[in-house]
Amino acid sequence: MMKKALSIILLLALLVVFFACSPAERTAYGFSMGSDYKVSYDFNGDLDKEIADLFASVESSYSVRVDSSVLSRLNAAKAGEMITLTTEENEVLYQAFALASATRSAFDPAILPLVKLWGFDPPYEMNGEVPPADSAILKATILSGMDQFTLYHDLSIITKRSDDAALDLGAAIKGYAVGRALDLLREKGATKGLVWLGGTVGALGDSYPIGVTAPRESNQDYAFRFTLSDGEICATSGDYERYYEYEGKRYHHILDVNTGYPASSDVISATIVAKDGLIADAFATAVVVLGVEKGVALLEEYGIKGALVTKEKKVVTVGLTVTIKDTTYEIV
Ligand code: ADP
Ligand code: MG
Repeated sequence: MMKKALSIILLLALLVVFFACSPAERTAYGFSMGSDYKVSYDFNGDLDKEIADLFASVESSYSVRVDSSVLSRLNAAKAGEMITLTTEENEVLYQAFALASATRSAFDPAILPLVKLWGFDPPYEMNGEVPPADSAILKATILSGMDQFTLYHDLSIITKRSDDAALDLGAAIKGYAVGRALDLLREKGATKGLVWLGGTVGALGDSYPIGVTAPRESNQDYAFRFTLSDGEICATSGDYERYYEYEGKRYHHILDVNTGYPASSDVISATIVAKDGLIADAFATAVVVLGVEKGVALLEEYGIKGALVTKEKKVVTVGLTVTIKDTTYEIV
């Protein structure tokens, strides 16, 4: 009943619209990791500061924009220099590299040389909206990719092969942060919660309807919706968030570390649902790179749920029941 009473429709940011109602009396709002966040929770007390502190700590550890973050320290390090990791950093990097292996580098955190060259890192100047020269792309491609790094997991040490090799967890950090926020709510004893961070959403204690914005459309209407269950996190990636067109070709911010160019697949948006936020976010990015055939195979291989939107406005689902808004989209 409270759910109904508090029902709201949110058209937030570009990616995910959720029709969910606040589960709770309290809602924490803020800005972290380049995105707005909104965390609603049912709890007899105030967790707003804990939530703000948690997001701030994730950002200060893993953002390439924060000079003291482990990524910034590692990125500034010389080849062969040993960087000691905290237990948490060790686990996050271990999982990120495992996801790079699992996706055959469709998601690869060692992509910063390419991201910088294309200008898709803050302040997002997009190289003046002109693709970089082929020779520069080749050079940055050689410097990118997880084989530039060695993680000594048992020793909590990481090293790199080239001075200019650099990590970027931008494609997975929001998912990780949403997962940590769900853990926090759970630990504190919240019974219901809904975490929203820049279009990445996590559910606690209840199911919530989620609408995914129609990709490449300006009207911010949803293309399809589905139900996010207790403990699940969903992340959406698309080629329509940061992009430009040059000589009739589209250049967007999801890059293929294997070619050095923006991904050119038939998937324009991928929504992934998983119990682990880092996996959901990394897989969403990976599936945009991989395209329908390889993307579906990846999700099936790991038993992960998702819905992909193709250029032809088809919605391809793997283990997820979706409802399309109207006949603009077709479920296949
Ligand atoms: P969002 O912009 O919503 O966070 P993603 O989760 O897909 O979307 O992350 C895209 C960001 O991740 C890019 O801006 C870039 O910093 C980085 N990136 C781009 N391509 C890749 C890739 N193939 N693997 C890992 N990170 C990537
Ligand atoms: Mg992602």
